[in-house]
Amino acid sequence: MIQISGLRFHYGDGDFALHIPELRVPCGEAVALIGPSGSGKTTLLNLVAGIDTPASGRVRTAGVEVNALDDGARRRFRVGTIGLVFQEFELLEYLDVLDNILLPYRINASLHLDRAVRDRAVALANRVGIGNKLGRYARRLSQGERQRAAVCRALVTRPRLLLADEPTGNLDPANKDRVLDILFDYARDEGATLVTVTHDHDLLERFGRVIDFKRFHAGAGAEAGAEDEAAKAAQGAGGGA
Ligand code: ADP
Ligand code: MG
Repeated sequence: MIQISGLRFHYGDGDFALHIPELRVPCGEAVALIGPSGSGKTTLLNLVAGIDTPASGRVRTAGVEVNALDDGARRRFRVGTIGLVFQEFELLEYLDVLDNILLPYRINASLHLDRAVRDRAVALANRVGIGNKLGRYARRLSQGERQRAAVCRALVTRPRLLLADEPTGNLDPANKDRVLDILFDYARDEGATLVTVTHDHDLLERFGRVIDFKRFHAGAGAEAGAEDEAAKAAQGAGGGA
């Protein structure tokens, strides 16, 4: 589902640099990304989604070489294939909850908004406990409600790949589990791949694999990162995987 090789990325300003020699996430896998703040977790999601472009290396997402696409094609690919839960949610304040959930259908001509989609949006909202807030403006929601609306918006298009950036970051324990249950149930039911950035170490056991970002630091030694990956592959092979 995700294949990265020889990826190097840096922002135009500043000295942050990301180097990922090799990273593969097979279809249907549930992966957690952990690592200190500022280690590049959000940056990686943006590279996988084609929001940012690497200086060198390859990023294949769902079989598509994202950086070979022009802006329009990349956007259509993203909308059709990926559900994104942004760290800052990115809700539109002047839209109500239902319209925020349906936003992908409003801004992309390639998606068709019909009754079934609306019903699905409402069902998702009910499921995360914001079904009674559908008509409320985003600016009048609590942080937890905003987050859950963002999760619904990511799922409404039935993406094959879910990229969730700290989706439980602002939630109390009950709602953390609820949001994670929804992401996992969705991934299982649809056979979707789930990549989740999280700081909640007590949630990690739910994931098939945990990737720690410490090893992707250009300064910290790309070789160490490559060795980690090789060791892991060897372990996997030894385990009969
Ligand atoms: P994380 O999600 O792991 O906390 P990020 O991927 O957001 O980290 O950021 C990695 C580094 O890149 C940080 O040092 C951050 O300040 C920097 N950074 C993030 N976005 C930008 C940007 N748009 N322009 C320049 N630097 C950025
Ligand atoms: Mg981040």
